[in-house]
Amino acid sequence: MPDKKDDKNLQIKLQPQVMSSVLDNIGSYVYSKDLEGKYTYVNADVAALFQTSVQDILGKDDSHFFDLAISDQLRENDLKVIRDKVTITSEEKNVIKSTGKVTYYRTIKKPIFDEEGLVIGLSGISMDNTEQKNLEAENNEQKNLLNAILDNVDAHIYIKDTKRYYKYVNRRVAALFGKPPESIIGKRDLDVMPAKLAAKLWKNDKLVFESNKKIIINETLLDEKNNLHHYLSTKIPYNMKGGAKAVLGFSTDVTELYQLKEKFEQLANVDELTQLYNRRYFFENANKEFNRAKRYQQALSVISIDVDHFKAINDQYGHPVGDQVLREIAKVINPTIRDHDIFARIGGEEFSILLPNTTKQESQNTAERIRLLFDEKPISLDNNLTLPIKISLGISVRKSSDSSFQDLYARSDIALYKAKDCGRNHVYTID
Ligand code: GH3
Ligand code: MG
Ligand code: MG
Repeated sequence: MPDKKDDKNLQIKLQPQVMSSVLDNIGSYVYSKDLEGKYTYVNADVAALFQTSVQDILGKDDSHFFDLAISDQLRENDLKVIRDKVTITSEEKNVIKSTGKVTYYRTIKKPIFDEEGLVIGLSGISMDNTEQKNLEAENNEQKNLLNAILDNVDAHIYIKDTKRYYKYVNRRVAALFGKPPESIIGKRDLDVMPAKLAAKLWKNDKLVFESNKKIIINETLLDEKNNLHHYLSTKIPYNMKGGAKAVLGFSTDVTELYQLKEKFEQLANVDELTQLYNRRYFFENANKEFNRAKRYQQALSVISIDVDHFKAINDQYGHPVGDQVLREIAKVINPTIRDHDIFARIGGEEFSILLPNTTKQESQNTAERIRLLFDEKPISLDNNLTLPIKISLGISVRKSSDSSFQDLYARSDIALYKAKDCGRNHVYTID
């Protein structure tokens, strides 16, 4: 039977060996230094790091192994531990002389005391943090890059959660409200913009939450300088970290395009010479009005107008004066037209008026009133020129047998010729 005491003695004897083996396999750098900074113990990891043997390291200070000019945190920490007798937990950036490799450590350094309580050195354990640090740096760089892109892209970009809190806004969104992004992120839409506008935008955001589908939608808003902006917005369902739902929005300012579109639309509808509606607009809307009148069995009349002996004006005074006459005719007739009537120049010296909800009698009254405007008074042009202008007018009224606006319009044209046949300066009606 082995003696129990012997067993214990053996264990005590073996303890440094066991400890040394544990420390060599701990996966961190473990060491102690004396007051001059010379190593009194290093584990196998330190030797591997310095690419030399444990024996070679012992008795040497860090100037042999680290580039101390760059590894300043290391020296400072060592001095502080010994001078102030404190434990320091910190991050150190060290540069290894033999390889030039930069390493980051999470380091704990403690003073070592002798039996009388005097500091005789320090012990340290350093865990390599380089990989995580590099990952962090890479992440930061990617984050900066992403922010630079998002802030400079020609769109307003934001993320909003289901409780209307902004989780992200790029610089363009923030600028719209004259604020930095930091002062918007974490706030609700209704905290950073007028309630009415917030409600309007939220209504669209909600569509994404409800459908869980991407939507593309037009949005308008007034900026802090009261300018109206038009946006084309793409809104996408987005899952945040932890699964919380959010909407990711990209809104592109299409105000200029929108204005251009409106201008083109206007140009496409308006007669350049008189600024009245043109033929295209007249027939497009007349067809709609015709269908409506037919459906609801309402009255609908057309007055077609042609200037009498207009050719003679061109011949006598020249084409530019003829143009002036056409503009003046438009100006004289325009005030007699109700809001829902459509008055257009159909071509040449021919005009038409569409009169929704107007009976034969009413349109005859209107036509007669217009004829008299010219008959009773010559028109005044530039250069004190006054010209007696007469017009002929043909009226047609919708019949239940009419199948399209063309039927109605054709009759007003025939009526116009009849008015000419009657000696001009005349109103003629075909039922
Ligand atoms: P009527 O009483 O039978 O209508 O006689 P009119 O001379 O008006 O008839 P006609 O249709 O023969 O002549 C129309 C003239 O209008 C011919 C054309 O030179 C002129 N005209 C057409 N468009 C314009 C225009 O934009 N400007 C000017 N100044 N003249 C135009
Ligand atoms: Mg004509
Ligand atoms: Mg004519």
